[in-house]
Amino acid sequence: MIEHTHDVVIVGAGIAGLYTALETSGTVDTAVISKIFPTRSHSTAAQGGTNAALGNMEEDRSEWHFYDTVKGSDYLGDQNAIEILVQEAVPTIIELEHMGVPFSRTPEGTIMQRPFGGHFSDFGKGPVRRSCMAADRTGHAILHCQYEQCVKRGVRFYNEFFVVHLIIEDGICRGVISIDITTGELHLFRARAVMFATGGYASVWHINTNCLANTGDGLSLVFRAGLPLQDMEFVQFHPTGLYPSGVLVTEGARGEGGHLKNAKGERFMEKYAAAKMELAPRDIVSRAAQTEINEGRGINGEARLHLDLTHLGKDVIMEMLPQVHELGMKFADMDCIQEPLSIQPSAHYSMGGIPANLDTQVLADEKNTPVVGFYASGECACISLHGANRLGCNSTLGCAVFGRRGGKAIVRDLSEIRQSDVPEEQLKAAERKIETVLSGTGNETIAGLREDMRRVMDKGCHIFRTREGLEKAVTAIRDLQKRYDNLQIEDKSRGFNTQLLEALELGHQLDFIEPIAVGGLKREECRGAHWRTDFPKRDDEKWLKHTLAWKTKDGVDFKYKPVSITRFQPEERKY
Ligand SMILES: Cc1cc2nc3c(=O)[nH]c(=O)nc-3n(C[C@H](O)[C@H](O)[C@H](O)COP(=O)(O)OP(=O)(O)OC[C@H]3O[C@@H](n4cnc5c(N)ncnc54)[C@H](O)[C@@H]3O)c2cc1C
Repeated sequence: MIEHTHDVVIVGAGIAGLYTALETSGTVDTAVISKIFPTRSHSTAAQGGTNAALGNMEEDRSEWHFYDTVKGSDYLGDQNAIEILVQEAVPTIIELEHMGVPFSRTPEGTIMQRPFGGHFSDFGKGPVRRSCMAADRTGHAILHCQYEQCVKRGVRFYNEFFVVHLIIEDGICRGVISIDITTGELHLFRARAVMFATGGYASVWHINTNCLANTGDGLSLVFRAGLPLQDMEFVQFHPTGLYPSGVLVTEGARGEGGHLKNAKGERFMEKYAAAKMELAPRDIVSRAAQTEINEGRGINGEARLHLDLTHLGKDVIMEMLPQVHELGMKFADMDCIQEPLSIQPSAHYSMGGIPANLDTQVLADEKNTPVVGFYASGECACISLHGANRLGCNSTLGCAVFGRRGGKAIVRDLSEIRQSDVPEEQLKAAERKIETVLSGTGNETIAGLREDMRRVMDKGCHIFRTREGLEKAVTAIRDLQKRYDNLQIEDKSRGFNTQLLEALELGHQLDFIEPIAVGGLKREECRGAHWRTDFPKRDDEKWLKHTLAWKTKDGVDFKYKPVSITRFQPEERKY
């Protein structure tokens, strides 16, 4: 096996991973591994913006941002982490600006901001312009700037390397093993610190907003290494995916004044969130949209509704939402200047993930014991910034703030971590994983299993959930895991074997969907994005706690840990 040694190895080249690299590269030898070219990471697709209470357009305060995020999370977000998020938002955005991110500008030359769902002034009163934007291509602007800066600072990139194995021995992380996609050879990366920033996984549903690479590999590598995953039952559906593809139309479109309408032409949000209408948080708007569809008020009785931007006029659309216009033309053949866009809820974001503390150290148990030398940030991590429901524009912010904090923590911790040997058994385990897929002779195909997996998730683990639906999903998922052992791929070669990669990704997906379904079955309440129609209330007495799930040979084991509540006590959530 080809070997590399670096002080720090970061897996993932989205906003989170690259911010860590920018922090560590000045001081220690830093490498970034990414299965796709860095600037193709899903962060580049972020449209609407990144929050910070800069107050450039009207009064805003970090404590209002704090309150909105806690309430938006349905009180499951850890308030000690959210406080850091909102406090470090302002200096982080300024740092990005100084790094060269081309934000849109006000006439005075400051960063332009727009309203987004769930963000209000004065503890929940009027809408507030908090989202810092580069038109509707904010992620693209940030990620390209970060990548340039990483190249300038000498970060070593291993692009098109697919990490297949995480090495944890005696509670210490020693590195990762990766396939070089071009040759198919395995490479061992020894490191004193490993950061996972491997992104989200909404691709396990048919209709989703995510890029094809978002297959949750990082989560499954952690789960298989005997570490827990946190709050996996909480998955966000975005109300406005284009119909029929699911490609995202940013909430910024509603921030700019877009209206949601049903087949009767009614602005249906009046029934569900009369005060905040289209700017209520996503969980509420998605449920409203799905209810309209389920009750037969979709356009022409189909599973779609209208997002009407026509009253905004061409100038506003082309200046503030040019990408929405382009995506509508390309993916739905609709010109949103002339006609309303057809939209539907689309799987979007994972609130759960790899448990990590305020310094992004990965946690091994409910007592919050850190794993030495192992860190996680960005969408794959659960620092619980978003609790049960994330507010728009808080994800890229979380990636930036905690990617940066993670980098600082690594530099601080590194002197105390020694490089150590990797036992032979770890190398063999990685080789076995590849060989098993290449030598499979069964009658299952990738496409067949993936199709069935998505069907199961669409049916049992969607916006509305029931005990019966979740029980069926759990049984079906276990069946799919067994069927995976009978997978056969046609291409047995090593170089650029995309079938091998897809088979590995599918194996990862089939692992982490189990805690989504079983965690959802156990949690008998409605909170944020997890909505049980058979338990229609939030139950703080029993369920104001985080779920931790461990993989065992017979399924999944659960433990729970408390939520950090520092300033805002749980209240009824009205919008
Ligand atoms: C269409 C869309 C629009 C969005 N708009 C916004 C917005 O306006 N504002 C906002 O705040 N949030 C937005 N979000 C959410 C936000 O963009 C993401 O949550 C965030 O960018 C994730 O960044 P990340 O750094 O965690 O990972 P990503 O950017 O997803 O990157 C993951 C990285 O991990 C690497 N990787 C994964 N597995 C492996 C492996 N096995 N081996 C090697 N490398 C691996 C990939 O190559 C990639 O580089 C949007 C999301 C979508 C899908």
